[in-house]
Amino acid sequence: MNLRILWMYHDLMDLYGDKGNAEVLRVRAEKRGIETEIRTCTIGETADVSDYDLFFLGGGADREQELIFKDLLSRKENIRKAMDAHTAFLLVCGGYQLFGKYYKDQDGNTDEGLSFFDYYTEASSRNERCIGNIAIETCMDGETFKAVGFENHGGQTRNVSTPFGKVLKGYGNTIEDGMEGFMNDQVLATYMHGPLLPKNPKIADKILERALKKRYGKVDLAPLDDTLEEAAQKVMLKRLHCL
Ligand code: GLN
Repeated sequence: MNLRILWMYHDLMDLYGDKGNAEVLRVRAEKRGIETEIRTCTIGETADVSDYDLFFLGGGADREQELIFKDLLSRKENIRKAMDAHTAFLLVCGGYQLFGKYYKDQDGNTDEGLSFFDYYTEASSRNERCIGNIAIETCMDGETFKAVGFENHGGQTRNVSTPFGKVLKGYGNTIEDGMEGFMNDQVLATYMHGPLLPKNPKIADKILERALKKRYGKVDLAPLDDTLEEAAQKVMLKRLHCL
């Protein structure tokens, strides 16, 4: 068994150690004997997204988002082909925003999104940012659990049909509505950096299962010793009074 990850705009969209997510997936796959290839792809480079099991796109400041959005739009049909071919998607913050209708920043500049989903993002009208540690409760593929992360975004994402989770502490999609991210059975899109996966091993394994499903069907991953990861998560849940 092997796993192919395509890490998009690795040189531009990598806030708060988002690259750690790809690394965690590689380590957790390889501990199960699953050989893992992580290929990067940035502006102007070619890649057939549908060749990969997982498409990973991290977050970025407004400047980086503005730099990449046209290149991303030029790949729309290829990304749709990958969706149809059951590639899994992990999108963080700026990456999450660009899969919706658009992202409009503080100055009114608008980056057109891929419009795969109906949500849209506009910077807070009061110039506020959602910054800090965040804890949520999510139900992924039938399992309910808590997850922690760190968020820093001005964008307020609305019209999300199926959120990733319910905010226990922090902000999530908007300052006021208490929901976080977007999720369907193929795409996980979230405001949670951290990076997300080191302190949330359950999410890491769900992503691995989703990615491996593309070529291997349902895969049962052997359990790993997550004592350290769980202890780190517990520290944050306690600090946020969510335990
Ligand atoms: N620039 C976007 C915002 O501020 C995304 C930031 C991010 O990726 N952390 O909303």
